[in-house]
Amino acid sequence: MKIKTKAAIALPTVKATGAETGRLHSGDRAAVPQSADKKIIYVSQSALSRFLECKKKAKLVMEGWIPKKSSRALRYGSLFHAALEAATVAFNQTGKPPTFEAICKGVATYIKQWEEENPDLMKIKAVKEEMLYDIELVKVQMKHYVQHYVSDFDGSKKWVALEHKFEIPYNGIMLFGYIDSMYEEKKDIYILESKTRGRVSDDIVDLLHTDFQTFYYLHGVLLATGRFPKKLVYNIAVKFGGKVKIGETPAMFAARFETELKDEPSKYFRRIPTLITKEEYAAWVKNTLDPMLQDYKAWREGNAPSYCNTTNCEGKYGSCDYLPICALNDFSGYKKKSREEAKAAAQRVTKK
Ligand code: SF4
Repeated sequence: MKIKTKAAIALPTVKATGAETGRLHSGDRAAVPQSADKKIIYVSQSALSRFLECKKKAKLVMEGWIPKKSSRALRYGSLFHAALEAATVAFNQTGKPPTFEAICKGVATYIKQWEEENPDLMKIKAVKEEMLYDIELVKVQMKHYVQHYVSDFDGSKKWVALEHKFEIPYNGIMLFGYIDSMYEEKKDIYILESKTRGRVSDDIVDLLHTDFQTFYYLHGVLLATGRFPKKLVYNIAVKFGGKVKIGETPAMFAARFETELKDEPSKYFRRIPTLITKEEYAAWVKNTLDPMLQDYKAWREGNAPSYCNTTNCEGKYGSCDYLPICALNDFSGYKKKSREEAKAAAQRVTKK
């Protein structure tokens, strides 16, 4: 679905350096933009956040180092996104609420691809077992998500973009990002950004109001469409916190989750609107984004060091993935993604 571009509202001047000032088009989450002109610097919100967090970490990721292991929380997040995508595709194709079978089919397709891409992880018994339980949990969670957010799937919500990628030249850098979805209400547009969380903290509203991602997405949408989103709505799916009991199969575990989902859906499905004023946004561009991009550009061009920020070696989700490298120069738990691998992944997704 294409977004109609309207005249830009009076906000900070966009210093686009390319012929285009931005666009929204269908994209995918796996493909890393490959520039024909090697001089173009691409940056995403997550790359900028990593750069802020620790330059050493940003450098390791830039060099292609990825941990052989992956966290269960991240895997659940990817599974949930795959289920949501399956539900969205089914709705787009039929115009009706997605069936449980369509959700299961989409999840199965994702799992097949994930297994092909992660043969080493599939050899780990604990990971295989966790995946079996998480697949059942995610299917049941998506089934209830569809029932909980009826207006998302009955044609009454006016979606203007679903799973879209933006690429925008800005101040000599190509900003890119992925917008989960956008909808229109009374001529205003809203971004709906989906996330999974183990829990939702009491200060979530304040945290999201200052979140770099919130501002970055507003910026991306404004530049790509010329429209300032009314709100960014965080669509949070909370994971089941139960522990598997002795002898409990994945289906039994998911049935226990389903009982809770029926009893208390609002505990597992939260939508938190974040309202940023145009003044707040303008101040962020001037005081945060523009100086940060200058630093990032200098760093990418080799004119700034990649020093360690050891205050971030332990964070709210545990230790940094790269701790063994920094502490012991131990690279045994990592593999280096080749350019060919990144390209092959991009092509695989493009062919879908
Ligand atoms: S372990 Fe610490 S210093 Fe090393 S990359 Fe991670 S945050 Fe940076």
